[in-house]
Amino acid sequence: MSFKSDIEIAQEAVMSHIKDIASKLGLSEEDYDLYGKYKAKIDYNLLKKPTEKKAKLILTTAINPTPAGEGKTTTTIGVSDALSRLGKNTIVALREPSLGPVFGVKGGAAGGGYAQVVPMEDINLHFTGDLHAIGAANNLLAAMIDNHIYHGNTLDIDPRRITWKRAIDMNDRQLRFITDGLGGKANGFPREDGFDITVASEVMAAFCLSSDIVDLKEKLGKIVIGYSRKGDPVTVGALNAHGAMAALLKDALKPNLVQTLEGTPAFIHGGPFANIAHGCNSVIATKMAMHFADYVVTEAGFGADLGAEKFIDIKCRKSGLKPDAVIIVATVRALKYNGGVAKADLNQENLVALENGLPNLLKHVENITTVFNLPAVVAINKFPLDTDAEIQLIKDKCNELGVNVALSEVWAKGGEGGEELANEVLKLIETNDKELKYAYDVNSSIKEKINSIATKIYGADGVDYTPLAEKQIAEIEKIGLDNLPICMAKTQYSLTDDQTKLGRPQGFKITVRNIKASAGAGFLVALTGEIMTMPGLPKIPSAEKIDIDDTGKISGLF
Ligand code: ADP
Ligand code: MG
Repeated sequence: MSFKSDIEIAQEAVMSHIKDIASKLGLSEEDYDLYGKYKAKIDYNLLKKPTEKKAKLILTTAINPTPAGEGKTTTTIGVSDALSRLGKNTIVALREPSLGPVFGVKGGAAGGGYAQVVPMEDINLHFTGDLHAIGAANNLLAAMIDNHIYHGNTLDIDPRRITWKRAIDMNDRQLRFITDGLGGKANGFPREDGFDITVASEVMAAFCLSSDIVDLKEKLGKIVIGYSRKGDPVTVGALNAHGAMAALLKDALKPNLVQTLEGTPAFIHGGPFANIAHGCNSVIATKMAMHFADYVVTEAGFGADLGAEKFIDIKCRKSGLKPDAVIIVATVRALKYNGGVAKADLNQENLVALENGLPNLLKHVENITTVFNLPAVVAINKFPLDTDAEIQLIKDKCNELGVNVALSEVWAKGGEGGEELANEVLKLIETNDKELKYAYDVNSSIKEKINSIATKIYGADGVDYTPLAEKQIAEIEKIGLDNLPICMAKTQYSLTDDQTKLGRPQGFKITVRNIKASAGAGFLVALTGEIMTMPGLPKIPSAEKIDIDDTGKISGLF
């Protein structure tokens, strides 16, 4: 079987002028800034105007990711097009891709097949420059920290305990650990330093959780950049950097409007890491979509144990948002992988392995419906080599257990292939009268909160802490930041903290090794292992395949 690549499909699309998409939302030309013909930025102050809309929010999440691919973004876009086809006024809200990984192995992040957002080349390459602005704000702060030390260090910042790093939107392992300030007296103080990829910056997380520019400025002011020699936290506010940082972000904070292949409006805005941060598009973009549409579909990063949990316990709790229905994406291939099949053998029908992998899906369904008390439907994202018997087996097992399930063929057929799923979602929304529950009470102790997530969501028996983590918890309690929600940084591949344990493991504990306050973003990051905040490129990076011709046409971008 041979298929058109994502970029071929995207380049064949006939796009509407973005003015026409904006007018679908009832926007006038004063409400937005055009970035060429197919992109616009919408003024966030529009959120202050009243709206008659009482939009329904649909969250797309998934089973634990596998190398086989799940297709959350593809499903999110496809079901939005399906809702549009069914006559529903729909907007899709998504994260914006980080530039670095586009040149690595990942490729684009704008959906796939016939369920994509366009112009895909622009969305994947720079887009409207938001990530560069976030990098600039991050690096302004870094410069101001070293400048403060250079000019006498009145805050007595300990150069060995600066936690703020520099940022760049590139996969560049060479910059993970550096020594800077070399060259003698006139050139700063030598110290150990390093770079994170921009999406891992706390500026990105704070940006995505802000309600407007003033709120963002306040959040930036609370960021802790390191410690004084006495051991007290030093904030951005003490350096007086937050005003200028926010000024750099004034346009970035406006959500980007683009369109799907079928002309559904799409807000693509903000993209924090899904491990050390919460992994979903900006609150402003979700709220703005809900301001203008009746149905909004959005995506949470990684599997439901990390992505959906943070979407609800962090983003919803902080913003007052509440999903009306949840789509849990599963694929035959990923379930077979969870059932023990090697990646190379996933193309063969294997009903036994599929059945063995199903408990992973069922645990995520249970979490959404019982822990968070939300209605859920399983979307089987159909891949070309899935057999009818395999798809029927998932449907039968779900039906047996009373789990809602629908086949999604949006990758191959666009919105038309998502109608079964969209109808299922609409039915769930109509009959839903449940109250959202969180996985933990934010005012309970740090350990109680982590324990709730581990036992309820992961199915763990409990949590162990390293001596370092114990010490850090005591410090966080001492400085009074213990009442923040928890952002778990755990492997996405397993419900446990061991990425090799697939399916639905039982009889395990997780180990928290490190706890760090992201006081600006407003959460505590609990790390269960090493998390890479500056990726590298593979031996043959996809950058070697990306090209442009004399007409400006880009190729090789997946
Ligand atoms: P996620 O959001 O879960 O990371 P994406 O939707 O970005 O996943 O999809 C990852 C990749 O898998 C994309 O390149 C996409 O084209 C491909 N993909 C998704 N769904 C299908 C499908 N049903 N058949 C074939 N390829 C698919
Ligand atoms: Mg995605």
